[in-house]
Amino acid sequence: QPNAPLSFATADDVITAYTQVNLVGGARVASAAALDVKNPATGAVLGKAAASNAEETEAAVATAKAAQAGWAAIPARTRGKMVAEAARAVAAQSEMIAQVLARETGKAIRTECRGEITVAADILEFYGALGSELKGQTVPFNPRMMTTTTLEPLGVVAAILPWNVPLVLGALKIGPALVAGNTVVVKASEEAPFATFLMAEIMTQYLPAGVLNVINGDGKTCGTALTHHEDVAKITFTGSEAVGEAIYKVAASRIIPASLELGGKSPMIICADADLDKAVAGAISGMRFTRQGQSCTAASRIYVHDDLFDSFMEKLGTELEKLVIGDPLDESTDVGTVINQKQMDVIQGFVAQAEATEGADIRRFGALPEGGDLAPDLFMQPTLLLGLPEDHPCVTQEIFGPVAAIQRWSDYEDVIARANGTHYGLAASVWTKDLSTALDSTSRLNAGYVQVNQNLTIQPNVSYGGFGRSGLGKEASLEAMVEHFTRSKTIVIN
Ligand code: NAD
Repeated sequence: QPNAPLSFATADDVITAYTQVNLVGGARVASAAALDVKNPATGAVLGKAAASNAEETEAAVATAKAAQAGWAAIPARTRGKMVAEAARAVAAQSEMIAQVLARETGKAIRTECRGEITVAADILEFYGALGSELKGQTVPFNPRMMTTTTLEPLGVVAAILPWNVPLVLGALKIGPALVAGNTVVVKASEEAPFATFLMAEIMTQYLPAGVLNVINGDGKTCGTALTHHEDVAKITFTGSEAVGEAIYKVAASRIIPASLELGGKSPMIICADADLDKAVAGAISGMRFTRQGQSCTAASRIYVHDDLFDSFMEKLGTELEKLVIGDPLDESTDVGTVINQKQMDVIQGFVAQAEATEGADIRRFGALPEGGDLAPDLFMQPTLLLGLPEDHPCVTQEIFGPVAAIQRWSDYEDVIARANGTHYGLAASVWTKDLSTALDSTSRLNAGYVQVNQNLTIQPNVSYGGFGRSGLGKEASLEAMVEHFTRSKTIVIN
């Protein structure tokens, strides 16, 4: 029986509905404890979300486990249709979800939150159409025998989410996992859980009970209980490198697969023949300043050819000055806040290291908001760091804030080596009009997603994922669904 259609008049009503509850078996289930979720723009407590303990986490996995055989018995194409219908219902409530997301993440509603829920619904709908593509093979072997392979679901999938783009990253896990016949326990990000709960509860109205469950809690108690649970057959994680490494060790100890989407320090190489206007626009979108740089794929190392350097910097500065930093809910705002004080301290720590470096040139753009209900602490100006040595932490490490290192180059071989000089390998871009430079550089750049004359936009049908310590495995695309959420069984009939 579907639940009554969800309807909320205000974002506050949504937050009240998800106060100290998990979503398990299609129902809101009270949690014994709560943790505060803050609105980063005002500093006020936005609401209290569940702080799930080990028992509550285990109960969610048990519910998902109990629902899995029944879900897998539904034909894949029918499962897909149900997910697609759920996706359309999510799209229909996109404004309310965006309102909640803006309040909990501090991301601007116009430039970030509405687009995020649109992309998330699009991803879910894309996977909904792929049920009929879950095909095995017939293998020529012996004319008197039939040898086939089939794709089976894995069982219960644990999907662990970060706060920066929870709905898109959630959809990239939930969509393919469900369509492939798995049931799912999502661990929402404790920094920004409410929009995830709303998106998921809208979906559960179109799915059998227990197929999609969401719990909230911290990583130490709830996350650890989830990854260690013996009925979790697969972990799909997006988040930091350190937590990804810890989760991979747990998966190894249990001999279960884990896919990891981790950090990055993506280079953008601007050649002397690049179209200046396009390169500047690409740098601004690539640096993800509208998300305060809190993006795994942020183009946070920009290598500009000497010949173009001065004109590029002048135009970039002019454009950055135009970005409006302010209230995430204001329609005129381009740039909202950093997520929390801890993250702000990390970012400012990196900038302080740059400031202490001889020859560094630090440039800040735009005006910080003043007055009103806004707390000033988590707003930050887009910041460019020039003149740093190549081995400086601000050039080699992920900052996850509105800060990019701008480096000069003149020798092509040298810039390729420098671009490949970190342990990350998530994304890279090259800006040139020369086809041979495009072909050569794209083949040599050590990144899972390499682009020429553009910066990343997620397409559901185009896989992306990192090399090196940026992660393991791909997300998006049919291949990602098959690779991460199915197992292949060989059947030989003699
Ligand atoms: P985080 O690693 O701190 O937390 C991510 C999630 O893991 C949270 O839900 C957290 O509660 C949980 N967690 C923490 N410890 C855990 C444990 N021991 N066991 C199980 N779960 C645990 O990351 P964050 O700060 O939320 O997100 C920022 C990071 O995410 C950045 O490093 C960023 O680069 C990365 N990221 C990567 C991608 C990508 O697609 N590659 C996308 C977005 C963000």
